Amino acid sequence: MTEQVYEGRCMCGAIQFKAEGPPKWVLWCHCESCRRHSGAPASVFVSFSDKMVIVTDGEITKYASSPGVERGFCAQCGSTLTCSNAKLPNETHFHIGAFERAADLVPSGEIFPEERLPWFEPRTGPLGGVTALARMALGRERKS
Ligand SMILES: [Zn+2]
Ligand SMILES: [Zn+2]
Repeated sequence: MTEQVYEGRCMCGAIQFKAEGPPKWVLWCHCESCRRHSGAPASVFVSFSDKMVIVTDGEITKYASSPGVERGFCAQCGSTLTCSNAKLPNETHFHIGAFERAADLVPSGEIFPEERLPWFEPRTGPLGGVTALARMALGRERKS
């Protein structure tokens, strides 16, 4: 189904990719590492199974930010693109800002709420109860 295909790219366009949905989850991350990598107060990630993602142009450069964690970016324009964690194998977490249809990638919860900047109040749409929902989403993900 075409509406399940999410096309994305970095700012300069050297890296292009396509992911076929549905995503495993979409979540806010408030951890300090994501903050440093992105420069933004918080990040929203969409998780896709690696077998559902094709990089159609260019290559995502990886930086090992901590043991088992790699962060991807464009070496030409510096766009922040991905995060992957050895504890969650076979999936890659993309910053939703890289996708054409970021508006369709609605976060259902948050992780690392204890590292959230005190003035940052995430809007997570009609679902609310963000931390509990995130635990549910991650719990479901582990079983599948
Ligand atoms: Zn680029
Ligand atoms: Zn994070």
